Amino acid sequence: MKADRVCEIRSTCPYCGVGCGVCLSADAAGGLEVRGDPDHPANFGKLCSKGSALGETVGLEGRLLAPRVGGTDTDWDSALSLVAGRFKEIIEQHGPESVGFYVSGQLLTEDYYVANKLMKGYIGAANIDTNSRLCMASTVAGHRRAFGTDTVPGTYEDLEEADLVVLVGSNLAWCHPVLYQRILRARKKRPEMKLVVIDPRRTASCDGADMHLALKAGTDAALFNGLLCAIHDAGAVDKHFVTHVNGFDETLAAASSDRDAVTGLSDDDLRAFYDLWIRTEKAVTVFSQGVNQSSSGTDKVNTILNCHLATGRIGLPGMGPFSVTGQPNAMGGREVGGLANMLACHLELENADHRAAVHEFWGSPAIAQGPGLKAVEMFRAAGEGRIKALWIIHTNPAVSMPDADAVRRAIADCEFVVVSDITAETDTARLADVLLPASAWGEKEGTVTGSDRLISRQRAALPAPGQARPDWDILAEIGRRMGWYEAFDYASPAEIFREYAALSGVAGKLGRDFDISGKAEMDDRAYDTMAPFHWPQSAGRRGGRFFADGKFYHPDGKARMVPVRYRPPEAKQAPRYPFRFNTGRIRDQWHTMTRTARSPRLAAHLAEPFLDLHPGDAARLGISHADLVRVESPEGRAILRARLTDAQQPGDVFAPMHWTGETAPCARVDALVAAVTDPVSGQPESKASVVAVTKF
Ligand code: SF4
Repeated sequence: MKADRVCEIRSTCPYCGVGCGVCLSADAAGGLEVRGDPDHPANFGKLCSKGSALGETVGLEGRLLAPRVGGTDTDWDSALSLVAGRFKEIIEQHGPESVGFYVSGQLLTEDYYVANKLMKGYIGAANIDTNSRLCMASTVAGHRRAFGTDTVPGTYEDLEEADLVVLVGSNLAWCHPVLYQRILRARKKRPEMKLVVIDPRRTASCDGADMHLALKAGTDAALFNGLLCAIHDAGAVDKHFVTHVNGFDETLAAASSDRDAVTGLSDDDLRAFYDLWIRTEKAVTVFSQGVNQSSSGTDKVNTILNCHLATGRIGLPGMGPFSVTGQPNAMGGREVGGLANMLACHLELENADHRAAVHEFWGSPAIAQGPGLKAVEMFRAAGEGRIKALWIIHTNPAVSMPDADAVRRAIADCEFVVVSDITAETDTARLADVLLPASAWGEKEGTVTGSDRLISRQRAALPAPGQARPDWDILAEIGRRMGWYEAFDYASPAEIFREYAALSGVAGKLGRDFDISGKAEMDDRAYDTMAPFHWPQSAGRRGGRFFADGKFYHPDGKARMVPVRYRPPEAKQAPRYPFRFNTGRIRDQWHTMTRTARSPRLAAHLAEPFLDLHPGDAARLGISHADLVRVESPEGRAILRARLTDAQQPGDVFAPMHWTGETAPCARVDALVAAVTDPVSGQPESKASVVAVTKF
C-alpha cells in the first residue's frame, strides 16, 4: 500500500451483514473519505455501491442535535430525568411487562448489551425485541431446533471453496454484493464451480448463475423435502454422520408425504437440481429473507438444514448451510440477547439454570422469567394499551413493520414514547414524546458481528455533533437514574465489552457455543486496536467451523432433523386480491433511506418507488410500463409506478420497501403487508401478502 493510502482509522460498513471493513479519513471540513480495508477478512478492500458512497451520507443536514421533549429542544438532564421518571412510574403502576424496548440491528453490541441488561435483569421483563425479528428470526429458531443453539457453522471461505453454491430466497448480488462478488471471483478461478439460484423472481443474482429455479412463491420447504427424498433414494445419506442426528426416519417420512407438493417446477428441472446437489459433495446452501420472511420460515430453514445433516455436509471446508443476515449487527444482536426470547451469549430464557447464571453474574434485582413480546406482538400490545411506554432505538417501525398503518396508530396512541435516533425526520420520530439525539455511524465506538461470526470494531472518525451521545451511554444513564447506579456505571464501550466477554465465559462453562472469554481481560488499548476475529475465542477454542465432529448443543449432544410438511403462505389469493405481493430491497438503498437517500449517485439507481409485474398481467389490466398503479391489500394501499418485466412470474408482484411517509407518502409498502407471523420464530411473512392492482 502506498504511504498516502495508509488506513488511518479502521471501521466497518453500517449496512449489510457482510460486515465489510472500511478505512476512514476525516478532513478538516467534517467530510469523510471511505475506502475498503484491504486487510479486513470480510472484503479484502472491496466495497459495493452503498459502502463506497458512505462519505456522501455523513452531513449534518436533518440531524437531531439536542434532546427534544414535546417538540421543544431541551437539555440532557431534563430529558433523561423525564424518561427515567416516566418508565419508573409506569412500571410501579402497571408492572414491568407494561414497558417495551424496540431496538435495531444498527446498534453496536455494547449498546445492545446494556439495553438487554436493563430490560431483562433490572426492569425484570423480556419485552425487548429488535428489528432483526423481521430479518432472520426464523434462522435463529431453525438453528436452535436443529443444533441446540444459534450457530452459523461455516465462514465466508466456504462460499469460495464450495463446488456448488445454492442461493435460496437471496438476491445476494444486490443485498450482499461483496459476498456475491467473492463467489464470482472464485468461479472465475474454478469455472467448474456451479451457482444455482432458487427464487420466484429472476434477480440480478441469476445473471451469473448456471441454473435458476423459479419456484412458486413460498414452496421452498416442498423443494427441500424433495431433495431429502432424492438424497435417500440415491443412497447418499451419510450413515456415519446421522448417528449424531436424531429424527432421521420421522423427517424422511414427513418429506416423503410432500413428494407431490407443487413447486411449479418441471420434473426435469427438479431432477437436474437434485442430481447436481447430490453428486457435489462440497455444497453450500445460502439462504436469506426469501426463506426467513414467511409464516413457515422456521420450517423452511429446517428443511435446508435437514439435507445438510443427512449428508454430513456441515462444518467442513466448502460445505454447509449458511444464513446471511440483513443488517450490520443482526448477528451481534442474536448473540447478545437483543431478541425477546434469548438471554445474552446464546443462553436461553426458558432454561432455569441459564436464567440463574445470568441473574447471579449481573447481581441484578430480577431476571425475566420467560420470553417477552416479539416485534409484532409488542406493537399489537401497544395498540391495545397493554404496553404503556415504548423506547424505540434506531429504527422506523411506523414504516418498516408489517401492517405499518396499524403500527403507526399504535405508537401514536401509546402513553409514552421515546425515540433515540440520529434524525427527527422519520415517520416514527414524529410520533415521539421524547427524542434523544444519538451518535451516528462514523462517530461511535463498539463492535459488530458479520454473518460468519466475525467480530469487528466500529471506530469513530468524526466528533459527535451537537449534544449527540452514544446509545450505550444514554441507556446506562437511564439505568442509573432508575436507581441501579453501580450496575450501569460504565465509562466506555471497552468496559462493557469486557463484561460481556466475561459473561460469555459463564455461558461457555454451561456448555454454550458463544464463548469469547479469551477477550475478557483485554485492556482499553487492546480493545482500541482489536483486529477482527471469529468467535469462539476461549481458552479451549479459537474460531474455526462448527459441527463437523458431530457434536451439537442439545442436551444429548446430537443434532435434530425436524419433520416438516409444506404449508402455503397464510394469505390466500382470491378474486378480490389476486396477486402475491413480495417486498424486498433494491441495490442502492438501505432500509428507510435515512442515510442512503443523501447520496445523489445512490438515488440515481432507482429513483422512485415501483411495482414490478408481468407484462401479461399488465396487458389484462390495461396497464402500460411507467403507468401509476393503485395497489390494495386488506391492510392498506399504495400508489406505485408500474414496471413491466418477465422477471416476475404471472400472478406475482414485487415492490421495494424503502420509501417512507417522508420520502413518498403514497408508497409505504409495508402498510400493505399482513401482520402474519411464523408460529415458531414470530417473524412476519413480508414476502407473501395478497393485493389487487389497478391502473391509477
Ligand atoms: Fe457495506 Fe454490505 Fe456493501 Fe459490504 S457488501 S460495503 S457491508 S453494504
